[in-house]
Amino acid sequence: MPGFELFSDLERKEVNDVLDNGVLMRYGFDGMRKGHWKAKELETELSKTFSTNHVQLVSSGTAAVSVALASAGVGAGDEVIMPTFTFVASFEAIMMLGAIPILVDIDDTLTLDPKAVEAAITPKTKAVMIVQMCGSMGHMDALRTICNNHKLIFVEDACQAIGGSYKGKLLGSIADVGCFSFDFVKTITCGEGGAVITNNKDYYLNADHYSDHGHDHIGNDRGAESHPFLGYNFRISELNAAVGLAQARRLPEFIALQKQNYTILRNALEVLPEVQFRTVPDGGEESYAFLNFFLPDLETSRNVSKAFKENGIDVCWNYFDNNWHYIREWHHLKEAKSLYPISPEIKAALTTLKTKDFSQSDHFIGRNISCLIKLSWTTDDVKLRASKMVECIKKMR
Ligand SMILES: *Cc1c(COP(=O)(O)O)cnc(C)c1O
Repeated sequence: MPGFELFSDLERKEVNDVLDNGVLMRYGFDGMRKGHWKAKELETELSKTFSTNHVQLVSSGTAAVSVALASAGVGAGDEVIMPTFTFVASFEAIMMLGAIPILVDIDDTLTLDPKAVEAAITPKTKAVMIVQMCGSMGHMDALRTICNNHKLIFVEDACQAIGGSYKGKLLGSIADVGCFSFDFVKTITCGEGGAVITNNKDYYLNADHYSDHGHDHIGNDRGAESHPFLGYNFRISELNAAVGLAQARRLPEFIALQKQNYTILRNALEVLPEVQFRTVPDGGEESYAFLNFFLPDLETSRNVSKAFKENGIDVCWNYFDNNWHYIREWHHLKEAKSLYPISPEIKAALTTLKTKDFSQSDHFIGRNISCLIKLSWTTDDVKLRASKMVECIKKMR
């Protein structure tokens, strides 16, 4: 991660195909496009990769999450359970639909604690959204059981964990509907883009229509198509899809590089008794996009991440004070600072976040250090980085 580190002639060729005929839109213009349908090809490629029946590309990962929820019928007044540690996109996508984000604690997997999920269920709960953070996953079987028992929709945001798997299934393809982002910093990038994947044909058709103004995509005269229900525009362009197509075909190459670099760092840190790696559920394999570990306490973790910075170890973070990924600094959310009026029930739910006890999440995020794994590092780069990291941690003793 990120895929842009290794842009090549493969990406350039796909983009040139699109520019050669000038059709930048994914739908229509059949006569002009000389057989190039990059968005469609990428959807086919992803459906093969993820062994999933249906894929709908959209304009971003945030759009993917919102389209996924809308396609499953989540809307005004429905509660969606989500973790305290994620990207702001999670609650944005929920609130865009008039639904209510219900934030709950994480555990040592760095995502949803099944016990916290169960405790948060009310008659208004409609969906549970797992966010597979930093290249790994939550307790998928336990969460599946909870969703089945309470008849809830299970949504999987795998934006940060493409290529990881659980019991032989790729992350994103395990829940009822899965979401990916291909924004500029993700393992597979196309600048801006995202995907919804599902085996549920109804969800897929809903996503296909909803992300294109409600077009039913029947026949070959776009202007004559009918609109069975209201939609928006969350389309991806052919230029973005072209880059994504080349990148998606390279997923195995990127995951192998991530694994190689991750393994060097992990083996070096493993010998330190104060380092405890994040829990990966039995049967799970990370995507190796990040290496995550816990230190004994918040203070050590803050000091180590400071020492990393001072010693040239970039792309390693303690998320406790982070503005974008952890609830502590989401003051705009807790104070419901919206440009336009939002519903009283959403406002009421957000207000409770100011006083709710998230000490369990603080316990894990406070002690965590998360290191991005780059694709462009040489083996020597990673070995040097590993030894510097070990030194920094030892110095805190
Ligand atoms: C990147 C990301 C998103 C949003 O993707 P965009 O394409 O940037 O809108 C959503 N969820 C998670 C976990 C992400 O990391």
